[in-house]
Amino acid sequence: MRALVVEDEPRLATGLRSGLEAEGYAVDVALTGTDGLWLAREHGYDVVVLDLMLPEVDGFEICATLRAERVWTPILMLTARSADTDQVRALDTGADDYLTKPFSYAVLIARLRALVRRGAAERPCLLQVGALRLDPAARKAWLDETELVLTARELSLLEFLVRRSGQVVSKRTILEHVWDDAFDGDPNIVEVYIRRLRTKLGEQFITTLRGAGYRLASP
Ligand code: CA
Repeated sequence: MRALVVEDEPRLATGLRSGLEAEGYAVDVALTGTDGLWLAREHGYDVVVLDLMLPEVDGFEICATLRAERVWTPILMLTARSADTDQVRALDTGADDYLTKPFSYAVLIARLRALVRRGAAERPCLLQVGALRLDPAARKAWLDETELVLTARELSLLEFLVRRSGQVVSKRTILEHVWDDAFDGDPNIVEVYIRRLRTKLGEQFITTLRGAGYRLASP
């Protein structure tokens, strides 16, 4: 397993290197954001330990840049502050996990093991089907460059369909995932919302399959 450590505090960087080497990782260390981004792009690491506060380019930007370039290496972000906003932002910019400093090596190693196990599957922050794009964290969607005006429920339904694009999903499944268990109204509510989405997206994205359900796909 090959790991990249991006950490600007030399002592911590050295500690991380020896800690990971003791676990059998081959380790590269970058002391600046620029070097870290360059190395992460150029080499196929199995995992990246990424400090948040870095000179030149910070951890958020590195994460967002890598994901935008479709580099899916698992990333664990180290946040110095215990602020929730940093942790939320870390995950939203494409990190897979985070640890707040100071952290325990045993926990770090276990988290990395879990990330490596999951591998570098595609985990886009931005979902896309043809000209339709959706940002689940920002709760926004666009058709080409135009932002769609959607209610919270319409956006949830759209996200659900986009995440299963190309598949047929039944009205029942949609109800279970987009409406909560407490919903005991008319299941035809799904049709009503599908109609609203069609009005906003155009007819071509969502197909009705009689008796089976709906399928969203690129026209
Ligand atoms: Ca730092």
